[in-house]
Amino acid sequence: MVRAGTEVSLADTIYDVAVVGGGPAGYTAAIRGAEYGLKVALIDASPKLGGTCLHVGCIPTKALLFNAELWDHLKHAAEFGITGIGTPSLDWAAVLKRKNDIVTRHVKGLDFLMKKNKVTVIPGYGRLTGPARNGVHTVEVDKNGKKSEVKAKNVILATGSEAKMLPGLKPDDRILTNIEILDLPHPPKSLAIIGAGAVGVEFGSIFRSFGAEVSILEFLPRLVPVEDEEISKELARLFKKRGIDINTGARVEKVERTEGGVKVSFNDANGKPQVKEAEKVLVAVGRAPQTADIGADKTRVEIDRGFVKVNETMETAEPGVYAVGDIVADLPQLAHSGSMSGMVVMAKIAGRAFRPVRRDRIPGCTYTEPQIGSVGLTEAQAVEKGYDVKVGKFPFAGNSKATIVGGHDGFVKIVSDAKYGEILGVHIIGPQATELIAEAVAVMELEGTVEEMMFTVHAHPTLSEAMLDAYGAVEGMAINA
Ligand code: NAD
Repeated sequence: MVRAGTEVSLADTIYDVAVVGGGPAGYTAAIRGAEYGLKVALIDASPKLGGTCLHVGCIPTKALLFNAELWDHLKHAAEFGITGIGTPSLDWAAVLKRKNDIVTRHVKGLDFLMKKNKVTVIPGYGRLTGPARNGVHTVEVDKNGKKSEVKAKNVILATGSEAKMLPGLKPDDRILTNIEILDLPHPPKSLAIIGAGAVGVEFGSIFRSFGAEVSILEFLPRLVPVEDEEISKELARLFKKRGIDINTGARVEKVERTEGGVKVSFNDANGKPQVKEAEKVLVAVGRAPQTADIGADKTRVEIDRGFVKVNETMETAEPGVYAVGDIVADLPQLAHSGSMSGMVVMAKIAGRAFRPVRRDRIPGCTYTEPQIGSVGLTEAQAVEKGYDVKVGKFPFAGNSKATIVGGHDGFVKIVSDAKYGEILGVHIIGPQATELIAEAVAVMELEGTVEEMMFTVHAHPTLSEAMLDAYGAVEGMAINA
């Protein structure tokens, strides 16, 4: 059965491209393919398009985050001269409803976009059946045991990822992944979090705002270990200030249900056994690619520890079969890595101009309070690569707009190469960091230099002036510090 887009799907229709998976990587590819005039089928096992990002990832999480931010502001309403509102209370059911309404609205938006672009949406689980025959691939589509075939000249695999679990654990009402934590009947009084990557620190930040006692247990020596070390340090400082309990170098041994909650046993950084008890535990130890049952074994598609190997146009070792998004080896598991890789593939298939996705130009955005936005090399990575590294750092404390919005914590850090002033990395922790980083990504993509940015006009008063000052700081010439 065909859900949206073209009205009829003949068994012998040969599509230009069949996309398997309707998350941000897959649906973006599908739309872009249609925009190029290609005939596109989008196969998804779920009855609703959008994947992890829309249903149990970026969108619902950021909806909760916005509530948490409002709630934090309300706690300090008097500081902003707002009085007479009494004691605000949190209507959790309304918070969840708003989050769910946002998701529903965007699901409808996607259905609309599929129709508008005449993408044929085919519900069911897609699998490769083997190499192309006479240039045509056959994808088996399994809908509740009923099998059909979709034929296409090219196939894009975009099957996404799922939360990893610790051995022996299964998610339930107390042991949570990114999925269960989004629909708790009330904010937990206490929350233990295993893993301090984006998922762990974001939910830690959100539920701390909603009043939970939060304990974070991270195996590595610092929070957000992929970020620049100074960013991790600043986040840890600010989390501690917010009363979040941080345990780095923690080796989790056991997670058990207790009468009223959970008990996490771990060895601390000194190897000393410790226990944390909480109402709930969130397991946020990474995501595994969903590639076990996509028929890759029937083709030349190479899989390495679950991840699909691709070349710079995202093509696998099987000609005409591409992979995008969370299943791709060496590509950060981010919605925007997925969507951009999808756009690259469609340009390649359509024979149009494109720029391959550069791993070092993908922004990382972590939606904590305060936010983190970063792109490119950390200072340590730049040193390791042998650059003559020159760093500029500017604190938001010196930025007038930061004062106005009450966001003095954090800084902008520029990592540059002394020789040509090349910008190697930009690392921001502070207000609107996830928006500010866009400037840095564009500048790096266009190979701008520190000097060029020092003479690029930034409006006043804006948070973006902190970027201008940070570029100046590379030459020891910040104005406001
Ligand atoms: P992650 O891989 O980013 O972080 C997992 C963390 O858990 C790591 O720091 C790791 O050292 C730690 N860890 C692993 N095993 C552990 C153990 N047994 N005990 C203690 N710590 C342990 O994974 P994630 O945070 O689950 O996120 C999954 C993916 O989704 C990542 O690629 C992430 O970037 C992405 N994501 C991105 C965003 C965003 O961009 N804002 C939000 C959510 C998720």
